[in-house]
Amino acid sequence: MRSFDAVIIGGGFFGCYVALSLRRAFSSVAVVEREPDLLTRASYVNQARVHNGYHYPRSLMTALRSRVNFPRFCEEFGDCVETGFTKLYAIARESKVTAMQFERFCHNIGARIDSAPPRCRALFDSTLIEEVFVVRECAFNAVKLRARLKALLTDAGVEVLCGTSVRRVAQGNDGDSLDLELVDGRLSAGHVFNCTYSQTNTILRQSGLPLLPLKHELCEQPLLVPPPPLAKLGVTVIDGPFFSTMPFPARGLHSLHHVRYTPHHFWLDQEEYRDPEDNIRSARKRSRYPYMIRDIARFVPVLERATYVESLWEMKTVLPQNEIDDGRPILLRRDHGLRNLTVVLGAKIDNIYDVIDTMDKTLGLPGYSRQREPSAEALGVHQPRQGEN
Ligand SMILES: Cc1cc2nc3c(=O)[nH]c(=O)nc-3n(C[C@H](O)[C@H](O)[C@H](O)COP(=O)(O)OP(=O)(O)OC[C@H]3O[C@@H](n4cnc5c(N)ncnc54)[C@H](O)[C@@H]3O)c2cc1C
Repeated sequence: MRSFDAVIIGGGFFGCYVALSLRRAFSSVAVVEREPDLLTRASYVNQARVHNGYHYPRSLMTALRSRVNFPRFCEEFGDCVETGFTKLYAIARESKVTAMQFERFCHNIGARIDSAPPRCRALFDSTLIEEVFVVRECAFNAVKLRARLKALLTDAGVEVLCGTSVRRVAQGNDGDSLDLELVDGRLSAGHVFNCTYSQTNTILRQSGLPLLPLKHELCEQPLLVPPPPLAKLGVTVIDGPFFSTMPFPARGLHSLHHVRYTPHHFWLDQEEYRDPEDNIRSARKRSRYPYMIRDIARFVPVLERATYVESLWEMKTVLPQNEIDDGRPILLRRDHGLRNLTVVLGAKIDNIYDVIDTMDKTLGLPGYSRQREPSAEALGVHQPRQGEN
């Protein structure tokens, strides 16, 4: 049985970055990934938005953490980030926030916001859209991110075992180490990190450990060729049952997300357990693109001229307590059911820095990233004076 100081289950963005971080503390680290390659699942199938706070007017904490992490991600992975487009946020008249509230919120979190020029406003139906703003948001290229992480892992001497599936984790005989049962063998580790995102509870269940309260959504993400006026634009209409279309740099296309139609179905693990992998494999994947585009074209009529290419499908896993405010905190549980087993759930890409900072503090493990947290002052976050509300 091969033995490592630390084994990370899951070679998505989080598992790879956590492995790099752990390599600072441990001499032998391995990433075990079920798929034939790294970053092929949720780290590839997503809207590629590098969040900068704008998306979260109902969750100040998530907005502020995004503000802090956006410059860190863009600095560290600048060559994997696409910035050559203009990002518009439009406030629907039936939005949960008004344009004035949104502007004030952006001011408070120090996020730059400008009134959109007339040629951009002209793309929207003004009877449904109250206001249109230009914001600073970008998109990451998951293929470039994969190549970059592979190179970093190789340089750091992290062993990557692709095409290897972990079935269960158990405490070793010494009561400290952990044994991993693979589909075709075994490994032993001083520490194990469960970074499997939608499969987090599957591993826990197969190991006879307590499940975490998670919500799973089967998501359809259409890819399209945008009509020429939208080629260099990303559009997000908030806040409620609205939509977003953004460049998807990994394919040179645009992705589409519609709050009502993207999730085909969902369930909560604490109400009924289902294996997300079985679910995505067996689901009848009948595209809802026609419904999405019909609704979206009411707001941005030119989108009717988009060309549908295909839909990508993936499970989205979130913490159900953020249903109302749409917040996206991280989850990090150490010693979850077994000594030295840590569970990590990132929720969105830029949250990696919150994971690493938390690992630093709670596990006493040195952080990998040199991208230090910028101060509130540097970010322009509004700090109320005494008596101001
Ligand atoms: C439709 C959609 C849109 C999204 N949009 C955005 C967005 O615009 N911006 C943003 O920041 N975030 C977005 N997210 C969230 C983001 O995708 C995730 O937070 C992030 O990718 C999670 O990374 P991860 O490494 O934890 O998961 P993954 O990339 O899924 O990695 C987990 C890995 O674990 C592996 N694995 C599972 N079980 C086993 C096993 N038993 N043995 C070995 N390996 C195993 C899987 O094969 C997988 O590669 C979106 C998510 C979805 C689904």
